[in-house]
Amino acid sequence: MNQISIIGAGIGGLTLGNILKQQNFDFTIYESAPEIKPVGAGIMMAVNAMQIFDKLGLKEKIENAGNKIHGICITDEKLKTISTTNVLALEKKFNSCNVAIHRAELQNILAENLGLENIKLNHSLQQIQKKENYLLEFENGFKAESNIVFGTDGIHSKVRNQIFKTGNIRNAGQKCWRGLTNFELPEKYNNHALEIWGKGKRFGFVKISEQKVYWYALVNENKFRENLDLIETFKDFDSLVLQILEATKPENIILNDIIDLTPIPKWYAENLCLIGDAAHATTPNMGQGACQSIEDAYVIGKLLERNRDFNSVFEEFQKIRRKKVDMIVKNSWTIGKISQWEKGNQIRNFLMRSIPESLNQKMVEKILKLEI
Ligand SMILES: Cc1cc2nc3c(=O)[nH]c(=O)nc-3n(C[C@H](O)[C@H](O)[C@H](O)COP(=O)(O)OP(=O)(O)OC[C@H]3O[C@@H](n4cnc5c(N)ncnc54)[C@H](O)[C@@H]3O)c2cc1C
Repeated sequence: MNQISIIGAGIGGLTLGNILKQQNFDFTIYESAPEIKPVGAGIMMAVNAMQIFDKLGLKEKIENAGNKIHGICITDEKLKTISTTNVLALEKKFNSCNVAIHRAELQNILAENLGLENIKLNHSLQQIQKKENYLLEFENGFKAESNIVFGTDGIHSKVRNQIFKTGNIRNAGQKCWRGLTNFELPEKYNNHALEIWGKGKRFGFVKISEQKVYWYALVNENKFRENLDLIETFKDFDSLVLQILEATKPENIILNDIIDLTPIPKWYAENLCLIGDAAHATTPNMGQGACQSIEDAYVIGKLLERNRDFNSVFEEFQKIRRKKVDMIVKNSWTIGKISQWEKGNQIRNFLMRSIPESLNQKMVEKILKLEI
């Protein structure tokens, strides 16, 4: 009989494990994959997430494995600035930096710190049932009974589907390639991320460590076909984009649809709680999906520090987190649509340029500030 079971060792489940360990809870994480090996891509850990890693004693390790990013710039195809978000002042205020890092590096740091013995790999949850406790059945035949369950099993969560019988996945109508390559960026991009907006397509890149660049490219679905040539597709973009694409080996590129989860009314049931993408997956346009799963784990931990009644913690958790998460899911969806306009781009860029920087900063501060 487990006191606490966590289903899924993604960034959300691993952060939750670290937080429960810090508070001496007994828990087991079940992960379907045979090893902790996330998709080969980079990820941005924003200041909100890095403040939490600081509290876990992991900030320096993550900073050293990744690259500090002090600002994000949106430009047009020829790299003319549309908007800049500098976070230096907020980094000082919150005593943490944005960090771009390889996903594998981040997940390994989290997994090693919580102790690999607490993670059961090759355990893919097949069925979850509520009796007196939760009965968990895995595809490998293993069965377990658990008092408390956390569903951290991502956007296609079986825990959510079977217990809440809900979960409408929305497709944004955009295809997204992610790539990793060894590339020497011009020095001015060493600590800045760039996102370039074209017509019905976008390209972003960021340095994640010495010589390593993570990039992503999106096109609207109507422009997509099998074996689309990315270099041809982005030939009207600055030559730097084409050089990055040329430097990337095909085996280091992955392709996904951009999807999110229609907000669901309740993230918890008796003795069970969903966190991260399982509860509120967002499109990636604000770079906040994983950061929000980290914030979820943190808030659960903070509430457990003063109250060990899990059911009242889960209720309070949703009350605290709901507004911020809903705002991110909604704004991210809208930003994704605007950034992929196919017509009226000059007007869009003009309007974007006229948004005062102070307004932008206010919105960013709201996201980077922890709620508790
Ligand atoms: C293109 C793109 C770029 C992104 N960039 C960023 C970014 O820069 N910053 C950011 O913060 N976020 C970003 N995100 C979002 C981020 O990837 C997700 O929000 C984050 O991974 C969610 O973490 P999670 O732990 O909730 O779920 P997941 O990462 O999906 O982890 C779920 C885990 O559960 C396991 N699992 C699933 N089903 C089962 C089962 N039945 N039994 C056992 N285990 C199971 C999976 O194998 C997986 O390990 C991006 C997303 C995309 C698509």
